[in-house]
Parts: sequence; structure tokens; C-alpha cells
Amino acid sequence: MPQSSINARRLERSLQELGAIGESPLGMQRVAFSPADVAGREYAMSLMRRAGMDTRIDAGGNVIGRKAGSDPRLPAIAMGSHTDTVPSGGKYDGALGVMAAIECVQTLTDSNRELRHPVEVVIFANEEGTRFHRWLIGSRAMAGMLEDDDLNAVDDDGIGLGPCLADIGGDLTRIHEAARKSGELAAYFELHIEQGPTLHQSGTPIGVVTAITGRAVFDVEITGKANHAGTTPMSARNDALVSASRLVLAVQRLAGESEVCRVATTGAIQAHPNAVNVIPGNVRIGIEFRDPEMDALAAAESELRRAAAAVAAEDGVGMEIHRQRFTPPVPVQPKLQAMVEEAARQCGLATEKLPSGAGHDAQAIASIADMAMIFVPSVDGISHAPEEFSTPEDCANGAQVLLNLVLLADERF
Ligand SMILES: [Zn+2]
Repeated sequence: MPQSSINARRLERSLQELGAIGESPLGMQRVAFSPADVAGREYAMSLMRRAGMDTRIDAGGNVIGRKAGSDPRLPAIAMGSHTDTVPSGGKYDGALGVMAAIECVQTLTDSNRELRHPVEVVIFANEEGTRFHRWLIGSRAMAGMLEDDDLNAVDDDGIGLGPCLADIGGDLTRIHEAARKSGELAAYFELHIEQGPTLHQSGTPIGVVTAITGRAVFDVEITGKANHAGTTPMSARNDALVSASRLVLAVQRLAGESEVCRVATTGAIQAHPNAVNVIPGNVRIGIEFRDPEMDALAAAESELRRAAAAVAAEDGVGMEIHRQRFTPPVPVQPKLQAMVEEAARQCGLATEKLPSGAGHDAQAIASIADMAMIFVPSVDGISHAPEEFSTPEDCANGAQVLLNLVLLADERF
């Protein structure tokens, strides 16, 4: 089959046009369910229709563009990502995957090239999870993975998910209808910016994602004794914040020097009573570990428990560790990784294998379909910020690899 070439200038134009929707001096403000989010989705739907797709919105609020294939018995090959942003986010996170997927279909339509499989482009609703502190709502709805906590979520103003989903064309009362069965999709491919520095530093145009990182989140409560900061001698203190600090350093060492897991972060802290003249009697810290391997996450957890027990014994404080959340790593099948490499080779582009340190819609869809992810470099590794940038050339390379991947899948699946 001859290669079909995507139109790099058209892709760049649609990225910039989408990027003008919700743009502010402080970055992109296309938070899920906002008027700008709706406008961004409508813009993308207009491009889908121009590319020859029928569009609909499922009960989970996902926009689905679909173009029929020549064999009606075959399941669809899906591509997609998200168009919502974090507050003051960038123009490329999610947007690239959607605009590139539409560009692939437009290219096929322009060259009158009909695939055997139907093709779908999906814009997953509320990927970032800013408003309800619950992310991947659309992709988890499609994968049938939503839990009661998700459905009953309220935002900081006490507004439920229902009216917000209705604003974007979804329907919470029928959300289970958004779930698709295993086998309904032949495969799911997602192009995304790396959001880290690996490809930018190595100068490699295409990243082949090996796994989407797992994540374990812990809440640790340290109980000491509150007392007068002026009258209590240093030798007679049970300072919960000092003990918490020792644990923070142990967490850093665990990923840093000891390399038990890829990254470890203490990102949240609350001290009580949080007064400058009182020895902190009670402290809560929030810790997360991320790693593409389940074993590493388990090792990090036991290392955390060991370090906490040691600090507790030495300092005479109480330590309670609660596991708050656990998201298992999602590997990409070697067969699918090899197809991404082959697609890149056809374009003459070098590849590098790497795990994804961030979560993506693909990790939910992986439970109902074969999944692969393509990364392109993020300049200086910056993401979730207005400075987020990937060059037009890198974006076009990613889109071309995505198209070649779809063509390979259409031949083989
Ligand atoms: Zn994203």
C-alpha cells in the first residue's frame, strides 16, 4: 500500500485554532464542563464532520466521530485523547492526540482511501479531573470502570456531576450505556506529548510507550504532643512535624538514592495546630509513588512502612499509614509496541521506548481493547503550564506515525 501523507500545515492550523479557544494570558483555561471546553469540543466536531465522520456524544459525555469501513463485520479502530485542560494549562496536552486523529481521517478521506475497519476518533470527557477531583471520567465510563464515588462526586460548590455532564451532552442517569464491550474496538491508539524531558534530551522524535505508570497514594498521620514552644525543653518534645520531615526525606531517598521506585513525592502537608508558638502535635502528609512495575510499587510501600516504623520508634511518635488510592500500572503489549516501532520506521523516524509517568485515557481503554501510545517530545519537558510546547515538526511526525499505525492495524486486525 502506498503511504498517505498527513498535511502538517493543516494539523498546525487546527492545533492553533483549538488553542485559541479558552486561551488566556495565564495559559489555557479549557477546564472540563466549562463553556470553553464545550466550545473546543464543538470545534473538533466540526472538523470531524469535514473529515467525513458522523458525530455523536455518548452518555459519558465522550464525543465520538465515526467513519464506516468496507467490511461491516469488523470492529472499529479507535484513536483519541482529550480536549479539556488543567487550569492555566498548555495547548498540546490532549489536544494533539485529538487534532492528529482527525487529521489522519481527513487524510484518508482526501485520498479516497477506504479502510476495512470503521475508524473512530474519540474526545474523552473530563480527562484531567480538575472540577470534581475525579479524572478519566469519560474513558472510564467507556471502559465500564466508573465507581459509585465517581457518580456521586460533587465539585467544591456542591454541584453534582449530573448537570455538568448534561451541559456537555452526556447523561448521568444512562451513563452505563457509554460502556463498550471488550472486542467492540479492534484497537485504541493515542498520540500524546511526553510531558517529561526524556525525548527532548535524547533528541528522539518518537517515543514508544511501554507502560502507563501505576500510582500508589498514602495518607500518613503522625501524632506527637502539642506543647508550648517557649517552655518545653528541646529534649522533652514530641514534635510531629520534625518526625514528618524525617519521613519526607526517607521518601525522597527511597526513589532517589535507593531507586526502589521511579519517583516518590510528598506533595501535601497539614500541621496542627499550625501556629508558630506551638510544637506541632499532629501532622498529616500525603505521599505518592509512581512506577510502571507493580513489584516496585509494592516494594516502595513496604519501604515506607519500614521507614515510618523506624522514625516512630526513635522519636516516640505515633504513625498511621492509610493507603488512599492504588492505580495499577498498565503495560502496552509487546506486539503493539512493535507495531508503533514499525510505523515509525516506515516514516524514517527514530524511536525510544519509555514508560509514561503521567496517566492517560488509554489506561482505561486498555481494559476493553488492545492499546498503544505514541509520544512526541515536549520542549524542556514542560507540561500542564502555558509554556508547554511541541514543535510543529514533532507534532506532524507523531500524526504520521499514528496514521501508519492505523493502516498497519487495518491490514492485520
Ligand atoms: Zn493529557
